[in-house]
Amino acid sequence: MEHQIPPSPPHVLIFPLPLQGPIKCMLKLAELLCISGDIDVTFLNTQHNHRRLLQYTAVESRFSAYPQFRFQTVSDGLPDDHPRSTDRLGDLLKGLWTVTHPNFKEMLSSGSFDRPVTCVIADGALTFALDVAEEVGIPLIYFETISPCGLWTYFCVQKLIDAGEIPFQGDDLDAPIQSVPGMEDFLRRRDLPSFCRTTDLNDPIIQLAMGECRQVPRSRGLILNTFEELDRPVLSHLRSLCPNLYPVGPLHTHLVKKTRLEIESTPPQRASSDSLWQEDKSCITWLDKQPLRSVIYISIGSLAMMTMEQLVEFWHGLVNSGVQFLWVRRPNSIVGEDLAGQIEELLEATKERGCLVSWAPQEEVLAHPAIGGFLTHSGWNSTLESLMEGVPMVCWPYFVDQHVNSRFVSEVWKIGIDMKDTCDRVVIEKMIKDLMDVKGDEFRQSMDWLSKFARESLSVGGSSVCNLNRLIEDIRAMKV
Ligand code: UDP
Repeated sequence: MEHQIPPSPPHVLIFPLPLQGPIKCMLKLAELLCISGDIDVTFLNTQHNHRRLLQYTAVESRFSAYPQFRFQTVSDGLPDDHPRSTDRLGDLLKGLWTVTHPNFKEMLSSGSFDRPVTCVIADGALTFALDVAEEVGIPLIYFETISPCGLWTYFCVQKLIDAGEIPFQGDDLDAPIQSVPGMEDFLRRRDLPSFCRTTDLNDPIIQLAMGECRQVPRSRGLILNTFEELDRPVLSHLRSLCPNLYPVGPLHTHLVKKTRLEIESTPPQRASSDSLWQEDKSCITWLDKQPLRSVIYISIGSLAMMTMEQLVEFWHGLVNSGVQFLWVRRPNSIVGEDLAGQIEELLEATKERGCLVSWAPQEEVLAHPAIGGFLTHSGWNSTLESLMEGVPMVCWPYFVDQHVNSRFVSEVWKIGIDMKDTCDRVVIEKMIKDLMDVKGDEFRQSMDWLSKFARESLSVGGSSVCNLNRLIEDIRAMKV
């Protein structure tokens, strides 16, 4: 009898932008692909981030449950002792293009992986990945981990330039914007992505965004961390340029659901948070002692920074609001950290009113019944995590898509207050009080509605599940 050699399984190479948000999202996607059973997955991390991930998380033991999964690393081109802080983001981009790019090309073309790669899934910001994949003849699907509403405004940058809406002079940031289809009724200059405020159109970040928009439609498809029902109008605009969309989110909820279904009888488990900083779980013990919805959670994510002056305004606004707080003060998040001694003194003075940590288990925090509001920088992951837990937001966006997200939070989804371009103690106090009082209830109603749609999208036959299954089928079909 003739023995048939079993066909080798498809092998996906996942390549995130080396930042906390994209790594978290893409690890979740990696896990979902592993759960599908017959897809091999390699996750390409930079050496620096991989060391941090191994140091602060149980990611290795979690993925050891999937024999078809591998981690592989590549250099980000920066020396070990480089701070990789947001004010040095330019260095990281330079390293990615001058060192990671050729290394990635070498890895993909010389078959450095233990199995042939049949599909690449790369972050949309890694524009070189498509050129490399095309040269080597491997199909590539992009994954945009920013918000779809933010992404759509990126796609309209050329239109905004042609219409003379950017660059703009002067300080009339409330002037309405007309060149982003679907957003004419509510978008103002101040709500455009932060890089649109530049007067220099050769600015590397605006150029990177425009490059991204040239590359993404040329790929085999585009994965988005959202669900159809949340972003339907924006998705329909995006489909006019990228017809093959996979809105598979919210990815973090997908995994909680999977875990719940698969390990019946155990209590629902939260997906691992895959943090690049050490999570301080003591804040959960502290939250356990606080009354229902009495605490505001303050975090500006993994990249945003604030000045000492802004921190002082936040502190006064918070103290004057009388609301209990859980505040994440990420290392190196204050511009001029040499004043750290003063900050500690200030914060110590109110310690009995709150809890300070340098990095929190955010998904667990937002799910805690003591949390009544979130003062956030409007990063897309944070926005989705908050929405899913029904926690209303005060938004203080820092950069890129966050300015668009905060406008959508306040004007489209009506689940929070937009505080962009303001950092005044009186305003902060009022917004926190409003959020924790009457407005919070209104916002929670809208959130209940939206998170119900999200959960439906993640149930059998739901839109995100169907999109994920279609993605899995398409990856299987790409098998060599
Ligand atoms: N996060 C966390 N602990 C913190 C602060 C943030 O686990 O103390 C996580 C958060 O849950 C989110 C991610 O870090 O998933 C931040 O991503 P986001 O897109 O919100 O913002 P970014 O950091 O990219 O600006």
